[in-house]
Amino acid sequence: MIVGVLALQGAFKEHMDFLNELGVETLKVRTPEDIKTVDGLILPGGESTVMGKLLTRYNLKLPLIQLIRSGLPVWGTCAGMILLSQNHDHLQVMNIDVKRNAYGNQLGSFIRYETLKVLDEKPLPLAFIRAPYIESSGSSVEILCELDGKIVAAKEKNMLATSFHPEVTNDKRMHQYFLDMIKNRM
Ligand code: GLN
Repeated sequence: MIVGVLALQGAFKEHMDFLNELGVETLKVRTPEDIKTVDGLILPGGESTVMGKLLTRYNLKLPLIQLIRSGLPVWGTCAGMILLSQNHDHLQVMNIDVKRNAYGNQLGSFIRYETLKVLDEKPLPLAFIRAPYIESSGSSVEILCELDGKIVAAKEKNMLATSFHPEVTNDKRMHQYFLDMIKNRM
């Protein structure tokens, strides 16, 4: 299994380190050829406007949309979730509308603990960094976690989206869950 991490901008190294610690082979995804070789793909946090522009510039946007539509497991964290959403003009593959910078500026970064529907009962540390949340979602979207009444984790078919950054905590259960999504498809 090879897990790709989109490596145009943002927090891709942290995801790669986490996956490597879990014994998984990783690939920095920067070209349309790279995408074809991975079994799953993480869209990291960073700056969604910059990443969106780079997706177009590196001719990644259309191949990525096609591969996700054909079932490639994909997980967007924070800015990555914005890339997947319907209401921002990037990949627009997931049936969610997302509010950017929904918790304010850098000073609005914080950690909370919450249980997730698809993990065990132990609360997961949720690290929010200028995070978005999901304002509305379609009927095919499964809500995995709400914080103060706002959706912060969701899944739709092969697509996973989280407002928070598990890769900056020391809890690997969310990465393990994504690896299970990939294994179930392989
Ligand atoms: N605020 C960023 C954006 O709107 C997301 C922040 C992050 O990914 N940590 O793209």
